Amino acid sequence: MVDALRVVRSSRETLDLVILPVDLPPLALMTAAGLLARLVAQEGAAHSVVILDRLLECVRTVAWLETVTRLAHVEVPMRLHTRSLLPGSAFAVSLSAQQASVAAADRRDPQLSLPPHNGDWEAVLARGERGDVATVERALTSAGWPKPQTVPASPAAVDWWGTDRYVEVVLYPSAAACRALVAELPTLHNCRWCSRATPTEPCVFCGHLSPKETFS
Ligand SMILES: [Zn+2]
Repeated sequence: MVDALRVVRSSRETLDLVILPVDLPPLALMTAAGLLARLVAQEGAAHSVVILDRLLECVRTVAWLETVTRLAHVEVPMRLHTRSLLPGSAFAVSLSAQQASVAAADRRDPQLSLPPHNGDWEAVLARGERGDVATVERALTSAGWPKPQTVPASPAAVDWWGTDRYVEVVLYPSAAACRALVAELPTLHNCRWCSRATPTEPCVFCGHLSPKETFS
């Protein structure tokens, strides 16, 4: 990771780059990256890390899987692994910065863990080759959500979900909610160690704490 950072810093001819490990499903990652790019263009790159943190607190994923046998990113109880072996099984996954859960689901009455549809949220959907999109759209409709925009699936998604029998829906803050997210950003200060303007303490670039001012 450190070597990769050195290469990118060198190729971009700047040291103002950091690596932040983020374990999100591919669609959530792409959605957060798109929102980040838009907000950073408005607010300035110096606040990228703070804005990304706030976005990650908001972005949620709900997914419909037909097997959880190879799902490695969410803790799956043994009884659900066993259930995966039964024909016709289905599972609802809910993921956010605060929680991750998987539960057995019923195709006749599909339920996803969705917030109320109001002006705070938008949704985007991607499906694996054998994903049951009709059932997910039924779950969205019964929860009061309109049909979401569909985007092409990431090639990395099958690996992440452990199956091509998945449908993922990412809920992300609307334009108005994004404006609220960046309404109060921290004041930048110059790091005593690397001299770069940082919004965080310790410094986002070098990780050092600036010594507190002392008065005698
Ligand atoms: Zn620094």
